[in-house]
Amino acid sequence: MQANQALNTASPKRQVASQDQLDTPNKRKKVQGERASSVQPVVERRDKDFWYSDGKVVLRIGDTLFKLYRSRLEKYCIFFQQLFAADADAPLSEILDGCPVYHMPPDLSLKGFKNLLNALETPLEFVDKPPSQTLAISLLHASHTLACDSVYGLAKSTLCDIWSAQRLPAHDGSDAHGFREAIYMIKLARLFDIPGVLKRASYELASSQEFWDALAADRQSVGLPEVDIFRLYDLRLALGEMWRRFVLAAPGKAKEDGKVSCVTDCNGYGGGCRMQSYVRSKHWAGNMEDLGQVEAGAMDPFRYNIIKHKKAELLGDYWCASCLEDKEERWKTQRAEWWGVISEGVLKPQ
Ligand SMILES: [Zn+2]
Repeated sequence: MQANQALNTASPKRQVASQDQLDTPNKRKKVQGERASSVQPVVERRDKDFWYSDGKVVLRIGDTLFKLYRSRLEKYCIFFQQLFAADADAPLSEILDGCPVYHMPPDLSLKGFKNLLNALETPLEFVDKPPSQTLAISLLHASHTLACDSVYGLAKSTLCDIWSAQRLPAHDGSDAHGFREAIYMIKLARLFDIPGVLKRASYELASSQEFWDALAADRQSVGLPEVDIFRLYDLRLALGEMWRRFVLAAPGKAKEDGKVSCVTDCNGYGGGCRMQSYVRSKHWAGNMEDLGQVEAGAMDPFRYNIIKHKKAELLGDYWCASCLEDKEERWKTQRAEWWGVISEGVLKPQ
């Protein structure tokens, strides 16, 4: 979403403080008349990190006040450009420390705003260490509200990297995401126009038994439209089919007659597979069926390593270590091919 669109959802108009808001413990000059002393004062606090003595503008979020450089806010956030421009000819209604006081939009959180200010103040912090997902989401919301393009771009690129459409899911599951997190990310992607995260989020859902269980238990609880459910089901079927073709193929070297031989060429001698070539394919397929491997990896073929799970059983049943290594290497190669086959954006931006 472009910054000008962002502005359509957030009023940049300066809000005139009420008299109640003006009555605070802080020393404040009131341009307008004094108010009754019986009203309970609003407890305000000056933010400890962003109260610059030579700042030119005071911003308020809830009961927290910020004193900041007006020119810097204008430089980075279209929201402030419009806010200050609209206020140029208007009489000042609230002054604190000689600075006009502006109230921030209600959808701007205190934490989000401080995160955004930190990102603007110390942009080099993210050169070597990108923001965490939590921080990126916080920055996304705040920068959208304030139409701050530089931080908005940082937040979106960070999320696109965490949910990369180019990088394969790690084979050991170390970068896996829970299905609730994936659903949240899909909604976020559509709200803020981040289609780059949808492929990975789609895979996290299609490969999650917990997701399918939750869907079966209460379809409404997952909070996704029917068209998404159908697409995810299609992806699940496609993954199962790709896996089935891979898992049933016997390891070893392909021969001209279409059969597969042991990679060691030993055929039962000197450490090779202890069987003849003509029974390899049938025997391997039988092993995979008997060991439950066709089902075991069908849902999550990028993370299910047959050899890791069943090496001992296969070594004990005619297969040699070299052929099992060959099968594992083929899986690693196959993963890259599979990822390329899954279309970008199994779930579409809406
Ligand atoms: Zn072998």
